[in-house]
Amino acid sequence: MNPPIFRFAPSPNGRLHLGHAYSALLNQRLADAAGGRLLLRVEDIDTTRCTPEFEAGIFDDLHWLGMRWEEPVRRQSEHFSGYEQSLRRLMDENLVYPAFMSRGEMRTYIVEQEASGKNWPRDPDGVPLYPGLDKALSEKKRTALIDEGRPFAWRLDMAAALARIGRPLAWTEFSADDLSVLNQVEARPQDWGDVILARRDTPTSYHLSVVADDALQGITQVVRGLDLFAATAVHRVLQELLGLPAPLYHHHRLILGPDGRKLSKSLRDTGIATLRGNGAAPGDIRRMIGLDPF
Ligand code: GLU
Repeated sequence: MNPPIFRFAPSPNGRLHLGHAYSALLNQRLADAAGGRLLLRVEDIDTTRCTPEFEAGIFDDLHWLGMRWEEPVRRQSEHFSGYEQSLRRLMDENLVYPAFMSRGEMRTYIVEQEASGKNWPRDPDGVPLYPGLDKALSEKKRTALIDEGRPFAWRLDMAAALARIGRPLAWTEFSADDLSVLNQVEARPQDWGDVILARRDTPTSYHLSVVADDALQGITQVVRGLDLFAATAVHRVLQELLGLPAPLYHHHRLILGPDGRKLSKSLRDTGIATLRGNGAAPGDIRRMIGLDPF
């Protein structure tokens, strides 16, 4: 049997905090315990917020924590044309559409809708679903708006995608204590509505590139935070539409700050570099996140 392949996939738009350290070291622990491989993937499609300095800082923090990974590291910003091909496939099948509504227009529209008494649906992250009115635009009108330079994003027509797939989707969640303990989870992609798959200037999105890369790199086990649990439903849809295999998933607990909230990259006191600068050793970090050395 081939060894399982894990990956840790940070975005270099800031330095790592305790939550990232937990995710990275849990991946390492599970890969080692299973005799598997561990890949590191740099998710830097947002070229305005991701920088080489943050990337170098992340490598440095991970080395210091004692993490090892295979070289070369895949850097998503070097593969835009590959993601564009996946997007084209969905365009050719009429499963994506150019969405022109700006955030302000969306807000106004939703306020109007809610004025009549009904709550506008929100996605699992609390963001209002895209109204999708521009699905009705003619091809001619779409081309005219694009040619005129109107900003837009490519959105997945979720209803059309689910009709195309034609059956309910699920994913397999595995236990971190025993990789052979598997649970089927019902996917609820409809809760996300018409998600963004690409922007005018970035021919991909987190959802599209993560799915493409997990397949391309032969990832068999995805270990990531519970904050991405619900998004896995979108990933299952894209895997089905693009004919890609689905890895097994483990969504781990989140490390919370002293205020009980999710850590963010701006919380300096939980940053690995800061803790290290204040004299913490890698073993201290492991203890803080409840991952004592083996
Ligand atoms: N790049 C994502 C992040 O830093 C993680 C994506 C994933 O593990 O699927 O939050």
